[in-house]
This record gives sequence, structure tokens and C-alpha cells, in this order.
Amino acid sequence: MKTIGIIGGGQLGLMIAEQAHVLGARAIALDPAADAPAFSVCDEHIVAAYDDAAALEELCRRSDAVTYEFENVPGEVLVPLCKRYNIPQGFRPLHDSQDRLREKRNAAEHGLRTPRFEAVDDAASLRRAVDALGMPCVLKTRTMGYDGHGQCVIRSEEDIPAAERLLSVPCILEEFVRFDFEASVVLVRDGRRTVSFPVGRNIHRDGILDLCVVPAAMPDGLRGRMVEASERFMESAGYTGILAIEYFVRGDEFYFNEMAPRPHNSGHYTIEGCTTNQFRELVRYLLGEELVAPELVSPTVMKNILGEDLVSAERIAAEGRQGVFVHLYGKTESRPKRKMGHITFTGMTAGEYDREWAEGFVGGVTAR
Ligand code: AMP
Repeated sequence: MKTIGIIGGGQLGLMIAEQAHVLGARAIALDPAADAPAFSVCDEHIVAAYDDAAALEELCRRSDAVTYEFENVPGEVLVPLCKRYNIPQGFRPLHDSQDRLREKRNAAEHGLRTPRFEAVDDAASLRRAVDALGMPCVLKTRTMGYDGHGQCVIRSEEDIPAAERLLSVPCILEEFVRFDFEASVVLVRDGRRTVSFPVGRNIHRDGILDLCVVPAAMPDGLRGRMVEASERFMESAGYTGILAIEYFVRGDEFYFNEMAPRPHNSGHYTIEGCTTNQFRELVRYLLGEELVAPELVSPTVMKNILGEDLVSAERIAAEGRQGVFVHLYGKTESRPKRKMGHITFTGMTAGEYDREWAEGFVGGVTAR
């Protein structure tokens, strides 16, 4: 029996471990928190920091193949391990995504259109970049940003002093894309073939993904170009394993926003919404098995459950409605804005979700 090692024990690790079991493999996760969600599902676990080289080595030693669900594993620790153990995705896709400037340059180099951007390091370069890109624009820290943290939209001169507060670390300034909607693609590539999951339309609330609607309502031609460009990008960049790419869509153009070489929140719908899911195909890749191309089972809506929606989610779980799948991650501490679970509504269009479910959640965000 093979063992999959997972660096990170959050909900992504939990769902990787579940699918490892489905495919007859064991799972071991490493996480700094003793109560990490994945630990309850894994066969073994290690409590240690992500930069604890000895602990990461122990994880590798106990695994046949290792993957990561945490994006900020330091290269100094991971690179030496990649040489000695089976970490088939390697460090490079992680390295390319850990810095927003490098990430955008890399995307552009491999054929994806990005919003225009400039490197910014101080007030003078911010001034030059704002003049070059025009307003509105978005200043982001190059590293460690997530879910809208470390970002500042500059709409007018008055916003510049607040933006300058981000400049204690290197930043990137991007043109503000007045997008019609956001979309994402999850791909898994084993070097021979690439399988891609149906494009989802993502609706964010306060910078955090709230809903993912599949299929994304968009012309087939545009959808096809987005999937093809994503596959070409992955091949051109030489990545294998799993990759999620987020785009802004405006008219019939799409702009690369960011990527993650791990399962993605917008791909959670695949567990019940598709014939195979993002976690299972990642595990197949790790086990060296042939990948299976997914098919969408039915229109599906995925709703993230943040702390404030936990009570509603528990009520919905108790109702046990057909086609409604409640996933709670078992996090011991619930906080507003913390991802506590998600619900997948299969056989559900955006309009049906809005009529039946939207109001049952705090904020009541609609899917259309
Ligand atoms: P990010 O962490 O880069 O994905 O940004 C979080 C959210 O901020 C995105 O999902 C968008 O809604 C918004 N955003 C980020 N960058 C831009 C941009 N260049 N233009 C317009 N909106 C943006």
C-alpha cells in the first residue's frame, strides 16, 4: 500500500487524504497545528512547522510521494528534499507562484495575457507606476498575500498615502481590470496528458471566494480558448501535477490573475459535480496512475461556509436534501471569514440557487 505525504493539514489536505483512501492509498500530513483538520482523516501525522527541515524529511521518508497544500513552503527546505525524495511537482511551480511579480512575468512568458503591471519598491516607483498604468489600479504585496490581504485599490490621488503603507515590502502595481466576472480552471498533468475540470465562475465577497457556479455562463468559444491557453501554459512552463488558474473575464478576453499548484477552493464542486474530482486526479498523478478526464454531472453551485454561516450549514446538513452535500472541515475554532466548510448543490443553476438558498446565508450573495 502506498502512502501519500501532504505538506499542510488544512481542508485541502483533508480532501486529498479522503481521495487517497478512495484509491487505496494511505495518507500522512504535516502541519504546525495539533488540531489540523486533515489529521482526523490521515493515517499518520506530524506536528511541525513548515520550515522544520528534519520534520519535512521525516514526512518524505514515510511517504511514497509527497505533495503540498500549503503555498509558502520555503524553497531552502523543499529544494534539497526534492532531490532525494519523490515530490513529483517539485519546487518550481510553487516558486513561480510565491511572488506575484514573478508569477505574472512567468504567465506572460508562457503565453497568457495578464493585466498590465509594474514592480514597485518605494514611493517614487509607485508614483511612476501609477502614472504609467493610470487609475484605478491595485497595489499588492509581492509575497504572502491571500484572499485580498496585502492589497490596496488606488482610485484617486487621495488613496496613495494609504497604499504607501504597503511599501515596507516589495510590491506590484496592476491595472484594475473592470472584469465582467472571475473564472478559474483546474488542470492535472502527468507529462503525457492533461485533464482539465469544467470552468467555474467565481463570486467573491470581501476578497474571499463565496460561490462557484458551474458551468460558467460564457460563450463556448471563449471557454475553449481559456482551457486551451491554460493547458498550453502548463505544458510550456513544464509543470506536472495539479494547477489552478484564476482569470478575470472582460468581453471576450481573459486575463491571468493568479495560479496555485495545489487543489483549489473553486474546484471543490468537482467532488460531487463531476465524474472524478481534483483531489482524486492529483492522487492518481502522485501514484503514477493513468489520469481520468472529468465530465460535469449536472449544473452545480458551490457555496463556501465561513464562520458566520456555520449555523445555516449545520441546519442544511440536518435536512439531508437530495443533491445537497455539506462538507464541514472540523475546525475547532470558528471565526467570521474563516473557511469552515462548503456546500455543493448539484443539479442546481445560478437562478435556482438564488431563489432557493441565497437568503439562507449571512449576506445572501446571489449567484447571478
Ligand atoms: P487576488 O488575491 O490577487 O486574487 O485578489 C483578490 C481579489 O481582488 C480578486 O479576486 C479580484 O476580485 C480583486 N482584484 C485583484 N486584482 C485585481 C485587478 N488587477 N483588477 C481588478 N480586480 C482585482
